[in-house]
Amino acid sequence: MQQLTKDVYAETDVRGANVGFVVTGEGVVLIDSPMVPSEARRWREQIAEITDQEIIYLINTDHHRGHVLGNQYLTTAVIAHELAWKEMKSYGDSFRQRLINRFIKDNKPEVAAEFENLKIILPRLTFTNRMILHKGNKTIRLIHVGGHTPATSLVHVVEDSVLFTGDIVVKDRHPFIGHGNSKEWLDALTFIRQLGVRTIVPGHGEICDKETLQQLSEYIRQMRAQVRKLYRAGRTKTETASRVDLFDFFPVPDKDRQRTRKRFKASVGRVYEEVRAGYELSPKAKKK
Ligand SMILES: [Zn+2]
Repeated sequence: MQQLTKDVYAETDVRGANVGFVVTGEGVVLIDSPMVPSEARRWREQIAEITDQEIIYLINTDHHRGHVLGNQYLTTAVIAHELAWKEMKSYGDSFRQRLINRFIKDNKPEVAAEFENLKIILPRLTFTNRMILHKGNKTIRLIHVGGHTPATSLVHVVEDSVLFTGDIVVKDRHPFIGHGNSKEWLDALTFIRQLGVRTIVPGHGEICDKETLQQLSEYIRQMRAQVRKLYRAGRTKTETASRVDLFDFFPVPDKDRQRTRKRFKASVGRVYEEVRAGYELSPKAKKK
């Protein structure tokens, strides 16, 4: 666990996604939850070692399992974007079975077994654009940006100049655009740059800075440009997905190559859909 300021902490070494918390003076506000039950319980203990203030809220930055599955071990006072709530409502038995299968496939039966008692804790408070928590001496702004998923939101701890970005920022790995919108994503990165915070906690990877934002924008811009070119050349979505040349932009460990390649293709496919929709809406663009 890293202490980022007097009252803000983050952990970048749990499975699923980075997590963090803010000690407000009037309770603790958490950002995302470790997905594996034993790690979520351990996280709770670690928080209790830092402060005896109780957990008052948990904010999920999106609805993906890496961010929300540990909710049940932390609190039921969950806050998330309205669209995250909508997605999470559908997490039933088949969702749990897929999760268990995934860990069995990864040769981690002991982790798979931990999910037998999975209980999805839905957000009880939702918002659509922005929400501000005024707690103790902290102003915690929840800012919807979309991009990674339609629900993705940032958490800005104003007094401490710390921003938890969810998966809109990931460091040294491919961003997953397969459920998102690349245009919105670029706008979100611009917004973050303009916010000018001191510390950025990405959804995955180490605590980072402006350089990471720059690199991500560059990657997404290049993906959009390559997809546009292939689309104009008459390539299908599948052809485009195997031709876009960006897989080596970020390092990918050997053991993750297959899964990352699949997600990469899903990202390209999503951008392809976006480009196609753009051309269908304004046929004139075709002539350019
Ligand atoms: Zn996500």
